[in-house]
Amino acid sequence: MFEALGQRFTSIFSGLRGKVSQARLDQFSEEIKTALIESDVALEVANRFSAQLAEKFNQNSDEINISINPAQKIYELVNSQLVQTLGGATRRLKYAKNPPTVILLTGLQGAGKTTLAGKLAKYLKNDGNTPLLVAADLQRPNAVNQLKVVGESAGIAVFAPEVGNGAGDPVAVAKAGIKYAVDKVHNFVIVDTAGRTGIDDLLMKQIIDVRDAITPDEIFFVVDAMTGQDAAKTAKAFSDGVGFDAVVLTKLDGDARGGAALSIVEMTGKPIIFASTGEKISDFTLFHPDRMASRILGKGDIASLAEQAKSAIPEQAAQKLEEKFAKGEDFTFEDFLSQLEAMKNMGSMSKLMGLLPGTAGMKKQIENFDESELVRTRAIIESMTPLERNNPKVLNGSRRARIARGSGRAVSEINALVDRFGQAQKMMKQMRGGSMPMPMAGLGSPPKIAQSNVKSKKKSRSGNPAKRAIEEGN
Ligand code: GDP
Repeated sequence: MFEALGQRFTSIFSGLRGKVSQARLDQFSEEIKTALIESDVALEVANRFSAQLAEKFNQNSDEINISINPAQKIYELVNSQLVQTLGGATRRLKYAKNPPTVILLTGLQGAGKTTLAGKLAKYLKNDGNTPLLVAADLQRPNAVNQLKVVGESAGIAVFAPEVGNGAGDPVAVAKAGIKYAVDKVHNFVIVDTAGRTGIDDLLMKQIIDVRDAITPDEIFFVVDAMTGQDAAKTAKAFSDGVGFDAVVLTKLDGDARGGAALSIVEMTGKPIIFASTGEKISDFTLFHPDRMASRILGKGDIASLAEQAKSAIPEQAAQKLEEKFAKGEDFTFEDFLSQLEAMKNMGSMSKLMGLLPGTAGMKKQIENFDESELVRTRAIIESMTPLERNNPKVLNGSRRARIARGSGRAVSEINALVDRFGQAQKMMKQMRGGSMPMPMAGLGSPPKIAQSNVKSKKKSRSGNPAKRAIEEGN
């Protein structure tokens, strides 16, 4: 997501060193403008961005000048400008005072509207809601059927009285859908409507008719981010013609250069509420402008990573592991397996890696990450007996040969995994024992190591006489 723009920003920032003159700041604003235009951001938005940035630099010039780290101050100003351009605060879903909350989905054909309807319903269901999907796209061939399939796979009720494919009245279906939801006590209704290949009067009229018949609480315009600034232009036309409350950006996993996300809020005056990042039903998130800015600036998205980890690891399991660790019990293959299971729930490894800071320039490595390695590791552990998983010391030659046969892997792979696991176990023990050389993230600072202990561990003296004198305390 936004790799190219992220790389550009990283390289523009790497050119900032030491004191920064006014001329350098002007040049910097220009470089950013060029990067935005090359990422398919609408010209007017790129111009405004760089003008507002220059203004911010001006207002903060004293602070930039006296700062011991001007690049950091400049980073903060660029970040705040980016957050502002992406919409400022996170837009959250508005609930109707009297349920059901009715959401009308609109957008061009192929934007990913029907897929999105399923994702949104699943997202709401995961939060304890009872959404109903209403199939009012009666135009696109197979749209009704597609919604039924999406609903079925996600365990969501679908109201689809018409087969569609050009037949039926979308206004009647939408109205009947709301009535059905009230009768069956669904607290959310998501109405999928027909799109066209372009914004035309017929499309607008149909949406206006549906809108006026059901007075939705939220109208979302779904746009394909891969179309860059064209997405913003389409959204603007639709906003002028019909109006909507918020934008949903789809296909952000594709080669989106950032144009759509960075242009759309400025051009329509409406926020982005959700982002779709893949074809799977779970590839869907609330859109956070601050997290997106952080990703564009190469700082990753640790907040999302932490959220995903929290939702993937059941609280009980996390607590159990923590207790085990505190009690000094061994980390076992059983624990390892439950961690692998949690990682599977968190989604694809390459997507997770993309959330880490500094990965803007690692597109190739991330794409080449071998997801099947995790599958192979799981297969090996699953071929172990409970005794072997909880007590890896019993893994002798014949047991390893049996596991190899059971998992369809070579004995050398079993050996390698057991070795790696042994090292991890040892490391965990060291951390607990307090002899870890560095603080480990999330585990707090290690206990202080006694000076005598450090000295006794020292194996060699420095060859440099000056250094050796310091080492020896002379
Ligand atoms: P609709 O015409 O707007 O209802 O579009 P669909 O929901 O049928 O989606 C069109 C195509 O885009 C389908 O092949 C979807 O699988 C695909 N698609 C939808 N959302 C995403 C996304 O976020 N990422 C990717 N890569 N593909 C998507």
